[in-house]
Amino acid sequence: MFMAVLLTLPMRNVRLSQVDAFIPMVDAIMFVGELIVATLLYAQASVFRSRALAVLASGFVFSALLLLPHALTFPGAFAPDGWLGAGVSSSSWIYTARRTAFPIAIILYVLLKRADSTTQPGPERPAPRIAESVFVAAALALAMTLLATSGHDLLPRFFLTHAELNYGSALTFEFIVFALFVVATAALFRRHSSVLETWLLVALSGWLIESLLIMTLHGRFTAGWYCLYLLTLVSHLVLMLALIAESNRLYARLAISTAARNRERDARLMSMDAVTAAIAHEVGQPLTGAIAHAMAGLCWLTAERPDREKAIKELRSTIDAGNRTNEVIKSIRAMFAKGPIAATQFSLNDLVRETAAFLDRELAGERVSLELTLDEELPPVLADRVQIQRVLVNLFTNAIDSLGATQGRPRRLEIRSAPLNGQDVLLEVSDTGIGIAAEETPRIFDAFFTTKDTGTGLGLSLCRTIVEEHGGRLWASPGKHYGATFHLQLPRSVMSAH
Ligand code: ADP
Repeated sequence: MFMAVLLTLPMRNVRLSQVDAFIPMVDAIMFVGELIVATLLYAQASVFRSRALAVLASGFVFSALLLLPHALTFPGAFAPDGWLGAGVSSSSWIYTARRTAFPIAIILYVLLKRADSTTQPGPERPAPRIAESVFVAAALALAMTLLATSGHDLLPRFFLTHAELNYGSALTFEFIVFALFVVATAALFRRHSSVLETWLLVALSGWLIESLLIMTLHGRFTAGWYCLYLLTLVSHLVLMLALIAESNRLYARLAISTAARNRERDARLMSMDAVTAAIAHEVGQPLTGAIAHAMAGLCWLTAERPDREKAIKELRSTIDAGNRTNEVIKSIRAMFAKGPIAATQFSLNDLVRETAAFLDRELAGERVSLELTLDEELPPVLADRVQIQRVLVNLFTNAIDSLGATQGRPRRLEIRSAPLNGQDVLLEVSDTGIGIAAEETPRIFDAFFTTKDTGTGLGLSLCRTIVEEHGGRLWASPGKHYGATFHLQLPRSVMSAH
């Protein structure tokens, strides 16, 4: 719109003062911009294995390289008549070749893109092909420079003097360039589908206006001529910025999808870690018990005076511990498989006594006195007995660990049970151990959180999962004077309420 107004400006052929540094400056900016565009296009070409993008990129390399002889041959820029043995029309021939390269590259791009979409990307490495196309672009730029300088007299004259245009021949050539731009715009418009192509269309519309403007110009250093270069600069910069933004968007999308894939893989590994660590953690205790009982049995049998009765008792305990290991494995499987809970109705008090009995050795080992304050009126619960026993084993062994680290005060473990709100039952496991530091309290139920050298940090997180799957709650609070209390709330069995 702005340029359309400019076209009708009567001032466009008004001669302004000659700024010799103008062309080298504009050419330097465009040189950098076009090389950036070419690099981004080559990068996309190698990612997508696209010949079309490689040809487009080469178009930009060709036109960028021609900017060097353009600035060098431009009259007044570095020498009054230009360098490289330039004739009066050398720089404008180079300029026209640069401008012709864009529509040709875009037409080839559209044609090759059609071919690209029908052929599968082959195993061919993109790097040699890119080097090849850069080489071809450089060779063509060199040939064009030689033609415009040494072969100057073979070409029609664009300029009569350095400032005065040979309007007739310039118009003819500009008309050809304009026609090429129209063809390129039409071809791209019919097939455009990507963000890059939309921005190419925007740049093409800028170049079309540029062409129209050139047709109305009569010489260099006029208002219209300066506007022409600024318009060219803006079209190139717009295309460059759009390409940078598009490449960043592509890389950001790639980074996001890679991060999502990594997260998914980590989550999978984490759950595998959790399963293996849970098996090691939960199976470790009954397995150690089984080994201890078997060794005790062996001792009774191999003693000087073997005690058959005691050996049988120990071996029976070994079998019990073995069976418990089996049950634990089954319950871990059930827990991770997220299947239905194998619920039975049972008394929590009985389960507490039974669990305390088989932790007898550990309690005695750490010289812990056990105090059971169990409400005999406690209603039964409907739950997976093996899983709730795992919870109790964890809570008791954590308390024993904590008591084992305590010096100078009685090591007491107290377990209380009581009905709660008429709907639930509450079990409290209190110890007089080292207690939980205030800053650690919110984290103790997190998976893999441990303060122990050989801990896995899985016990409490598994306990909470089990309890919550039963519709209950598990939380911790500081003990009355020392230590910690763990509260286990489970819904009472509905069957028992009737
Ligand atoms: P682990 O026993 O392998 O460390 P847990 O999940 O069972 O894993 O326990 C996590 C952490 O909670 C323990 O490392 C410990 O710091 C703390 N904790 C658990 N129970 C007690 C307790 N009775 N007294 C003090 N700290 C406890």
